[in-house]
Amino acid sequence: MTAPANVGGSRMLLRKLREIMEDGDSAQERLNRLVAMVASVMVADVCSIYLTRGNHNELFATQGLMPEAVHRTRLKQGEGLVGLVAENARPLNIADAPHHERFSYRPETGEDPYQSFLGVPILRSERVFGVLVVQNSVQRIYGDDEVEALQTIAMVLAEMVAANAFGDLSGLADVEARPSRPDALNGRVFSEGLAIGVAVLHEPHAPLGRVIADDPVREEARLNAALKQVRDAIAEMLEGDPGRISGVSREVLETFLMLASDPSWEVKLKNGVRAGLSADAAVERVRGEHRAKINAARDPYLRERMHDLEDLDNRLLRALAGEDGAAAQSMPENAILIARELGPAELLDYGADRLKGVALEEGGNTAHAVIVARAMGIPMVGLLPGLLSRVEDGDPLVLDGESGAVLLRPEPAVVSTYEERLQLRSARAAEFARLKDTPAVSRDGVAMSLLLNAGLALDVHHIGEVGAEGVGLFRTEFQFMVSETLPRLDSQTQLYRDVFEAAGDRPVTFRTLDLGGDKVLPYVKAEKEENPALGWRAVRIGLDRPALLRYQLRALINAAEGRRLRVMFPLVTTVAEFDAARALVDRELEWHARFGRGGPASVEVGVMLEAPALAWSISALAGKADFLSIGTNDLMQYFFAADRGNARVSDRYDVLSPPALRFLQRISEDADAAGIPASICGEAAGRPLEALAFTALGFRRLSMPASGIGPVKRLVLSLDVGVASETVKALMREDRSSIRTELTEFAKKERIPL
Ligand code: PEP
Ligand code: MG
Repeated sequence: MTAPANVGGSRMLLRKLREIMEDGDSAQERLNRLVAMVASVMVADVCSIYLTRGNHNELFATQGLMPEAVHRTRLKQGEGLVGLVAENARPLNIADAPHHERFSYRPETGEDPYQSFLGVPILRSERVFGVLVVQNSVQRIYGDDEVEALQTIAMVLAEMVAANAFGDLSGLADVEARPSRPDALNGRVFSEGLAIGVAVLHEPHAPLGRVIADDPVREEARLNAALKQVRDAIAEMLEGDPGRISGVSREVLETFLMLASDPSWEVKLKNGVRAGLSADAAVERVRGEHRAKINAARDPYLRERMHDLEDLDNRLLRALAGEDGAAAQSMPENAILIARELGPAELLDYGADRLKGVALEEGGNTAHAVIVARAMGIPMVGLLPGLLSRVEDGDPLVLDGESGAVLLRPEPAVVSTYEERLQLRSARAAEFARLKDTPAVSRDGVAMSLLLNAGLALDVHHIGEVGAEGVGLFRTEFQFMVSETLPRLDSQTQLYRDVFEAAGDRPVTFRTLDLGGDKVLPYVKAEKEENPALGWRAVRIGLDRPALLRYQLRALINAAEGRRLRVMFPLVTTVAEFDAARALVDRELEWHARFGRGGPASVEVGVMLEAPALAWSISALAGKADFLSIGTNDLMQYFFAADRGNARVSDRYDVLSPPALRFLQRISEDADAAGIPASICGEAAGRPLEALAFTALGFRRLSMPASGIGPVKRLVLSLDVGVASETVKALMREDRSSIRTELTEFAKKERIPL
């Protein structure tokens, strides 16, 4: 492997840079020498440093432009080519700058003669501090080597600004290198709760002050060791136990191993080290390139590959930081994880011990991680634009998973308010814990069944503490989503046995695989659909690929030996679909019996009502379906034509609106008439006000996340169902978009705790 020609040049450049930084000159003097040196080494007519101050990019030093312009030329954010570079956080390399549409002419700089322009962001951990520019009077495009060299300098510069190496530079105080002031972001609550802790970046970065290396040979050795460690760890995962509950899919791991062994990645990393960067900084620079490519890529496949590369960069950085690649090590006790996006397996890898909360910059695709976070009882807030650029590793944080706020570096007074709130929450939790063995019977004697929604055996272990009567919805697809390969019959059987075991005498309702829509399996090739929520999903897949469904039913029947088996099918739209699904259960039971096995003590087969069409077929299900469970998450998304996963519309319509409540009431009445017990198992059932309305409509079984059981039970205990029923039915007759306010007032008046 030979180093390209620029390596020697870059090393000299970094050495000179270091000399400049280490001598005793004033900060301004050092910046001036830096631009002069860069201009000379890069044979540029101009080299300038712009640093971001407030809403402006200010010229801090220049070689080649008018010296009077320094600290005078201030470009508004987004203004000019400098603004463009800062905005995109990507290099801009053009031959004819004055004719670029974003060119902004500033006469005081005297930049008229310069045609070509290369600007690179001064960037550290996603935060742009400014822009480093070179210009030449001839029209030319700068070579890749030159772009790379300038990026390396910019990186060192960023590091110096962050480390406050220019402490005496006037005006630098408000170039916010490392954010120190309190700040707040508002996002969306994905998993409810509160956490006070310190930030742990899911994507680490090189330690401050370790950018330029003293000893390139030593850095190369560190890099080699880390590379080996990462490759070995992936190979080990590939050879490891395929039944592991967490971890990425085999296909992803194989791609990983392939990428990790790719010589061009290694060459790039080594070039950085040979150019004088520390191994950590070399990885960070390559990661910066990968990120820029991710941002530029439109093709989703390409983006994904780039994400894989970025993930490898992160693993390598962790390995260099002395960890063995496992995320959970070296975590503080009160970690709040900061990430752009997070998969369910990654979250499980962190474990619930030290992780107190999760904040996500994006989180549009977090449906599965959200359910895992809820199962782990960890608050999660997402959709926080700008998060990654405003938090540093180790920053104190408050994660308010009640309002959706994330407070960065909060004042002590704010922290103490939150500490009080945390105490209040634990007092409430203690109150709910006291209710755990109290049956949920209303003041007028109506008995409610409050059941648990679960997706991992982990959830079910706490069923006793939570005080639920059973599991009303066990989402079986979870095991499939978080495992490396398609779970085999024995591992499926084992999971269902564990669930039965954990539930003890309490009944469990298993929902068969609900794949498709946003729930995709990494190891099953899925065709891209225009409208996945309306596409090939849930029982539709099960009926078209009966082998998968029969396999699962077989595992359920095996696990239910001698027990009560309740199984239901998701997104059934027609009675014929239910008949076909039920026939599969019967076939599997026969098959089981043929081998002389005992089989379950009893079998009940139910239907999930999630497609509005089925609501008009309930009478035809009489005598066929043993029970019916309304999945309001899906039913409401189809009822209101509003995507449940799209933050823009998912909260736009209210289940507590007369049309939705009339619809649910009708379902309840039709189910009663057909003699089919009906329950509600969408997330709404776990919110006290909604639970009040559903009870008033006649529902007696509600299944919900663990966090809902205590509050809903407390509500039921103080409820007069007769009075609530009259109130809700009267409100439903009125023409309004929601009865939420009126119902809240009613609850207040009646002293019903919400
Ligand atoms: C529902 O749709 O309400 C439901 C309970 O199923 P899931 O949320 O798993 O789609
Ligand atoms: Mg559903």
